[in-house]
Amino acid sequence: MLDPILLAERYAAVRERLAAAAARAGRAAEDVTLVAVTKTWPAELALAAHAAGMRHFGENRAEELAEKRPAVEAALGGLGGLTWHLIGTLQSRKTHLAASHADVFHALDRVKIARRLAADLTERGRVLPAFLEVNLSGEASKSGLDMTRWEEDATQRENLRRMIAEIDYAHLPVIGLMTMAPWDAEPDVIRSVFRRARQLALWLDRTRLEQPALALSMGMTDDFDIAIEEGATHVRVGRALFGERGQVPGR
Ligand SMILES: *Cc1c(COP(=O)(O)O)cnc(C)c1O
Repeated sequence: MLDPILLAERYAAVRERLAAAAARAGRAAEDVTLVAVTKTWPAELALAAHAAGMRHFGENRAEELAEKRPAVEAALGGLGGLTWHLIGTLQSRKTHLAASHADVFHALDRVKIARRLAADLTERGRVLPAFLEVNLSGEASKSGLDMTRWEEDATQRENLRRMIAEIDYAHLPVIGLMTMAPWDAEPDVIRSVFRRARQLALWLDRTRLEQPALALSMGMTDDFDIAIEEGATHVRVGRALFGERGQVPGR
C-alpha cells in the first residue's frame, strides 16, 4: 500500500510548487483549488490522500466516480467533507451517474449533455456547477468546444454564447472554462493556450455582467505552474501526487 510519508512529501512538494507559482503571479495560493486526480487508483489511495489532508478529488470516468465515492465515504463513516470533481468528458448514457455523484463537472462540451444532465439533476433536486471545456490548441485528441480561432472567428464565439444561453443555470450553473494544453508542447506554446483561455473567460465575463467572474480549470502535473501564472483557479494533478498510474506507488 502507499507509503504515507512519501505521499505527505509529494503533497508538500505540490503545494510548494503551487504557492511559488501563485507568488510569481502576485496571487494568493488559497485562490487555487488543488484537485487531486485519483483516477485508476483504488479507494484506499483516496483514503490515504484524505488522511494526508487533501479534500478535492478528481475522477475522469463517471462509472469510476460512482463506485469510488460511496466506498470512500463509507470508509470515512459519512461524507468526509470531500468535494468530488468529474474532470473527463461525459457520454450521454452516463449523465445520471454524474448527476448523482459529482459535485463539480469540468468537461461540459455539448448542449445535448447539458440538457440530459439538467434533466437528471432536476429529478434528483441537485445542482452541479460546471466548467465548459474549450479546445484552443486544435489537437484532434482534445475534446471541448472548438475555440481554436476564437479571437478572429465570430462563429466560434457565437457557438459558445449560444451554448451558454441554452444551459439550465438553475441546475447546471456554468462557473468557468476548462482547457488542456497540447501534449509535449514547448512551454511558450502551453503558456499561450492558457493565456488565451483566460482572455476568452474575460471576454465572456463582459457578455454576462450579472454573473460572477468565470473560474479557470487548467494545468496538470507537467504544466500546472504555468497555468497558475496564467490565472488558473483549479489545477487537476495526478502523477505529481500519486506517481505514474498503473504502478505500485513506491520510492
Ligand atoms: C488524468 C487527468 C489529469 C491529471 O493528469 P496528471 O498528468 O496525472 O497530473 C488532469 N485532467 C484530466 C482531464 C485528466 O484526465
